[in-house]
Amino acid sequence: MWEDKVRKVVPYTPGEQPRINNLIKLNTNENPYPPAPAVRERLKDLKYGDLRLYPDPNCRLLVDALSGYHKVKPSQVFVGVGSDDVLSVAFLTFFNGDVPILFPDITYSFYDVWADLYHIPYEIMPLKADFSIDKNDYLKENGGIVIANPNAPTGLELDVSVIEEIVSKNKDSVVIVDEAYVDFGGTTILPLIDKYENLLVVRTFSKSRNMAGLRIGYAIGSEKLIKYMSDVKFSINSYTMNMPSLELGKLSVEDDEYFKTTCAKVIDTRERTKKALKELNFSFPDSRTNFIFAKYDGPVSRDDIAAELRKRNILVRCFNGERIKDYMRISIGTDEEMRVVIEALKEVLR
Ligand SMILES: *Cc1c(COP(=O)(O)O)cnc(C)c1O
Repeated sequence: MWEDKVRKVVPYTPGEQPRINNLIKLNTNENPYPPAPAVRERLKDLKYGDLRLYPDPNCRLLVDALSGYHKVKPSQVFVGVGSDDVLSVAFLTFFNGDVPILFPDITYSFYDVWADLYHIPYEIMPLKADFSIDKNDYLKENGGIVIANPNAPTGLELDVSVIEEIVSKNKDSVVIVDEAYVDFGGTTILPLIDKYENLLVVRTFSKSRNMAGLRIGYAIGSEKLIKYMSDVKFSINSYTMNMPSLELGKLSVEDDEYFKTTCAKVIDTRERTKKALKELNFSFPDSRTNFIFAKYDGPVSRDDIAAELRKRNILVRCFNGERIKDYMRISIGTDEEMRVVIEALKEVLR
């Protein structure tokens, strides 16, 4: 009867990572460009002998780089093994009440998984028909709020002034703003971090910093929020960040020019892809991210299109929620990759 005592969960399903040659991989919003050049240089002279030592449990190298970059105190920065780790620690730390936390029905599909895992009550707030948030949904009593901005998988951005209103009218709970995609032309709420003690902003190196393989994420908030998260982290695992992540993450932060250039390239390609998709009779919410959440307004089903793309070694992501079962999420690759995708779509829809 030991199984009665097992903590049973329905896990999150990550996008697949198949090993196929010449794959155009547009299913997990990775960046098509490599990490900053300094990262490659440093990789060459990372000392294997140093791996004998535990890494710095306080992650100073990376925390200091991020604190300098965002002009906040080091005590306002929390780093983790991807933003999934950071968000998980934040859920565990801040959502410990009996009143449900709130998040939208169509959003990052990990939020309900953590809530279930940690036995956090939650209430799902349906987005409006155009996939935008109704701010009034977030002005009632709650145990906390999570908003991805821009949202995934819709790509839509909510105006920062609306988020500020939600934060300012919820002083009794923590509001987490997941800014995984903000670097692709969105507006950050970070400048308000010192104004609201209950605001936590979460970021990742996986998309805009081209380093999904290293697993680096971080949060910025008031010193109090970060201290509470740090206490929880040190109660689970002191050494979350490995030595290469600390060293290489810092170098990525230091090369702002490369960062801005590659983000601009992705944005540029995205805008061109929007035009091409429109011409092919696709519709989509106006993306401020490195993906487009597209629906074909014609006689071919989403699943048939995705299957045909796959035959041509092009991978996109399909979700099966009732309201989004006709949409596919297409990550933005290089110009050349997107040209191939558009050609393939023309062929499939002919
Ligand atoms: C990709 C993504 C994450 C997780 O990113 P990692 O840092 O790779 O764990 C978190 N939130 C949203 C909205 C994402 O799209």
